Amino acid sequence: MFADQGLSGPAAQGQPGTSDRYVVIGHPVAHSRSPQIHARFAQQTGEQIHYDRLQAPLEGFVQTVREFIATGGRGANVTVPFKREAFALADQLTPRAYAAGAVNTLSFLPNGILGDNTDGVGLVRDIEVNASFPLKGKSVLLLGAGGAARGVILPLLEAGVAHLVMANRTLSRAQALVAELGDSLPLTGQLQACAFDVPTDRFDLVINATSASLQSDLPPVSARVLSPSTLAYDMMYGAAPTVFLAWASGHGAQVRDGLGMLVEQAAEAFWVWRGVRPQTAPVLDWLRSQL
Ligand code: NDP
Repeated sequence: MFADQGLSGPAAQGQPGTSDRYVVIGHPVAHSRSPQIHARFAQQTGEQIHYDRLQAPLEGFVQTVREFIATGGRGANVTVPFKREAFALADQLTPRAYAAGAVNTLSFLPNGILGDNTDGVGLVRDIEVNASFPLKGKSVLLLGAGGAARGVILPLLEAGVAHLVMANRTLSRAQALVAELGDSLPLTGQLQACAFDVPTDRFDLVINATSASLQSDLPPVSARVLSPSTLAYDMMYGAAPTVFLAWASGHGAQVRDGLGMLVEQAAEAFWVWRGVRPQTAPVLDWLRSQL
């Protein structure tokens, strides 16, 4: 069910002088940088929050959430592998969470659990604001058809992307996703599915939303999709460029990794919970220096 007036909007804040508690729930979760990011947002805005990591057992996500709520928790970010379970757990969903089929931000409100997804808007803001790359009218090649790819489709189309091609190793998965979204979103034929033998040359933006970079693999896409004005974006990030970014810059494209997306999705979650929008640039600079 979509969010209505009763569950939407920033969560009400707690008692003055006390810290409201938030967590990132995952398995594993020790690597998560979200606590440092939210600590900096809180410091910057004067919001009284405490944000921690919480590892849930693989079979114990719902119970972990219920226990956190029972001890006064106000909200949670959700990471791998629980985003689908968070989607199922929410009493109400925002339209962007519904379109993503996954939830990364839970708000524990007096009358229920609101599920949201801030990953897509995080990507769009990083590209449009931080990279100064307007999306309106652009052609986009989206590599991958997993949770991350699905979550960015609606925000990209809402930003005015003219043509979006989803290419995936398993073609049937991309086709099923495009068919499903085509039924539920007001698409006007600008979303297409294919395998990695992409039939079109030269996209304005090529986004790697596969997890191939985690294994230092490169999706086998022809360099024909790139041009010197193409922005190649890898959702993964690290101290060194990913193999995908090294490949793209080797073919003359502009490149950007997903660290800004990480910070921007966190800023959107902070806004959802607190009704305050933190400045992301200093936090992104600081995080980059820590890689
Ligand atoms: P999923 O497991 O849901 O999907 C993985 C996708 O990658 C599938 O489309 C899969 O194809 C494809 N894939 C996996 N290995 C390869 C390979 N060797 N070659 C080509 N394609 C491959 O993962 P997610 O969608 O959740 O995450 C994808 C990436 O996005 C991860 O690297 C993750 O870290 C990143 N991410 C970054 C965020 C940020 O804030 N910066 C936020 C969210 C995600 P197939 O269907 O054929 O199996």
